[in-house]
Amino acid sequence: MSDTKSGFTIERRGLELRFRRVSLSAREWLAPDFVRVRLSGPELAGFDSPGADDHMRLFFPSGPVDTVEEMRAAPSREYTPLAWGEDWLDVEFAVHGDQGVAAPWAATAPLGSVIGVGGPRGAAVIVGDPGSWFLAGDETAIPAIRRFAALIPAGTPARIVVETVAAGREIDIDAPVPVEWLHRGDAPAGSALASFLDALTAGDAVGHDPFVFIAAEQSIVKPGRALLARWGVDSAGAVVKGYWKRGEAEYHAPH
Ligand SMILES: Cc1cc2nc3c(=O)[nH]c(=O)nc-3n(C[C@H](O)[C@H](O)[C@H](O)COP(=O)(O)OP(=O)(O)OC[C@H]3O[C@@H](n4cnc5c(N)ncnc54)[C@H](O)[C@@H]3O)c2cc1C
Repeated sequence: MSDTKSGFTIERRGLELRFRRVSLSAREWLAPDFVRVRLSGPELAGFDSPGADDHMRLFFPSGPVDTVEEMRAAPSREYTPLAWGEDWLDVEFAVHGDQGVAAPWAATAPLGSVIGVGGPRGAAVIVGDPGSWFLAGDETAIPAIRRFAALIPAGTPARIVVETVAAGREIDIDAPVPVEWLHRGDAPAGSALASFLDALTAGDAVGHDPFVFIAAEQSIVKPGRALLARWGVDSAGAVVKGYWKRGEAEYHAPH
């Protein structure tokens, strides 16, 4: 809360910006509209992402590329590193139809297809211990929510809320508390989550000194910020972000 000293801060760390060539080595459908892919290659050595909601830029060239410049000229989109090792990197994609570049690639590219990974060029790392956690988002935020959920100590008050299209589209998320699922049905993406956030009162705060993360379609930003104000949460200790924008390709969230 803003009037008491917080037990945590969000520390910004710069990372060396590197561009790596990787190839699609595996694909696993977790729901009809949600796919996890494994990207592999020796250039992933040294890849790091210390912050749970870090983003990298994936580049999707239409053919073989020889240079970093050629790779960087290809269309690119922002994604969250989910998990990685010396020569692999897992990424999860919300598959939203056949529009766009990234989602169709994740859904249909042949194994062996080569793309580029740029970054992450910076990280936001939680230092210290939030007194409680509130994580909310749509499918695009699931990878970040998985990473934040893994940081929540058992017994710390937490609430995790995810919007998806319909019952049966829920995805397993390892978390110390049950994930609450909202279903938008035929309503616009983000609307079920927005209504949920709007209905939360000051008395519904999940606990003291919360870390709040809210990311979904851009229209979530207004109700998300209004919630921070109702809960007296300083925006410096929270993330409220539009991860994509309806009707707009390659949306750049303001940082
Ligand atoms: C910091 C950050 C981290 C992100 N991490 C992830 C991640 O880990 N996984 C993930 O799936 N997404 C993630 N996103 C969102 C992703 O970058 C966008 O959804 C992106 O626009 C998808 O690119 P595309 O080429 O498929 O579609 P675009 O070419 O960008 O868009 C084509 C059309 O599809 C619409 N569209 C885009 N995304 C969606 C969607 N999710 N649902 C419905 N319609 C959509 C657009 O409004 C547009 O009309 C992240 C975004 C940010 C800012």
